[in-house]
Amino acid sequence: MVLRKKSRQTQRENPMNTIVQKYGGTSMGTIDRIKNVARRIIAKKEQGNRMVVVVSAMGKSTDQLVAMAYAINDRPPKREMDMLLATGEQVSISMLSMALAEMGQKAISFTGPQVGIKTKGVHGRARIMDIDTTKITQALADDSVVIVAGFQGVNENDDITTLGRGGSDTSAVALSCVLHCPCEIYTDVDGIYGVDPRLYPPAKKLDVVSYDEMLEMASLGAGVMHTRSIELGRKYNADITVASSIHDVPGTLITASAAATQKPITGMAVYNDEMMVSIKNVPYDVNISARLFSALAAAGINVDMISQTSPIADRMHISFSASHDDIDALEKALAEFQAAYPQTAVDLREDAVKMSVVGSGMKAHPGVASKFFRLLSAQHFPILMVTTSDIRISCMIPAEARERAVMAVADGFEL
Ligand code: ASP
Ligand code: MG
Repeated sequence: MVLRKKSRQTQRENPMNTIVQKYGGTSMGTIDRIKNVARRIIAKKEQGNRMVVVVSAMGKSTDQLVAMAYAINDRPPKREMDMLLATGEQVSISMLSMALAEMGQKAISFTGPQVGIKTKGVHGRARIMDIDTTKITQALADDSVVIVAGFQGVNENDDITTLGRGGSDTSAVALSCVLHCPCEIYTDVDGIYGVDPRLYPPAKKLDVVSYDEMLEMASLGAGVMHTRSIELGRKYNADITVASSIHDVPGTLITASAAATQKPITGMAVYNDEMMVSIKNVPYDVNISARLFSALAAAGINVDMISQTSPIADRMHISFSASHDDIDALEKALAEFQAAYPQTAVDLREDAVKMSVVGSGMKAHPGVASKFFRLLSAQHFPILMVTTSDIRISCMIPAEARERAVMAVADGFEL
């Protein structure tokens, strides 16, 4: 999104006490739940706030629309898909507006195109470029609650676009950026957890997490928040609160200040569908890595972790990981590589998982890596590969060690 320069004030100024709230599909899933959302909006409004509310489609209705599309055409045209999927949110904005009217609260609903949510890019994955706030500001001045359809916008050809599944979060954060006000995301979980509670039941909810940590923990965060919404929040320094729409407990604040993070490790993520490739005895030559990875890229294989040993006696080892989805293309590319370099030994390991610990606190706390490896080594399994960034340590481990590793690390770092 490119905000016009003059509107680049900070969200914290918020002179008009505006709040953007977003309610997801579960929170809007039934008539009673829509009424509950309406009551929550009125309560906030009565505290003197001007309310802008973004909603997702009711319950699983977007999935049902997708199924309908595929029932009639197994390759539905993307423009028509967006036309169809955008209707889900149009149902929920009007229903919520009616619920508010029934409770005596003035409200007006708008689709994305109606409030000038301008997008660019391909159908099904469009990106918000700009939002015209005129209509919203007028309606707020008129004392109305403004309800905006999430997940949708309009492109330069006046076609309806959608932002990718889960994209209502991004609509809400983008609105809070242009209105310079806080963003509250209400969902069916109590906030962001350091570890997925399904993997580690004692997992604790985080009070604060930084944008960078959220992005590094994409597999954790993506389940709760649309990744693009975090990127936007980071770019415009917008505070985002994620909380439950049902339980009245404080949620998680997503913000820039990693200083608020006291612990060395904020969270852990585990990715299951990885494969690991080791190529031994590769002749050392300056072009060989480029040749190997170009061949993989040409075959459409997304390579994740890479490690290469320094050459000993003109031979080196190269290891990398890739997604399980690419196994056919990978086997073919590896066979071609080995045919070109017959002295190499190629090993493809399908039963590997990638485990990452993430934390801005890592920069200030020495010894995080040593503690991480100590915790893992106590479980007696080999670590197959390691990579790091300044706030993350990732390693590849045998799939059979997954549960033990998660418990040991989560206990050890009190996640
Ligand atoms: N209704 C859309 C979806 O199901 C957008 C959203 O929920 O954020 O993906
Ligand atoms: Mg969501």
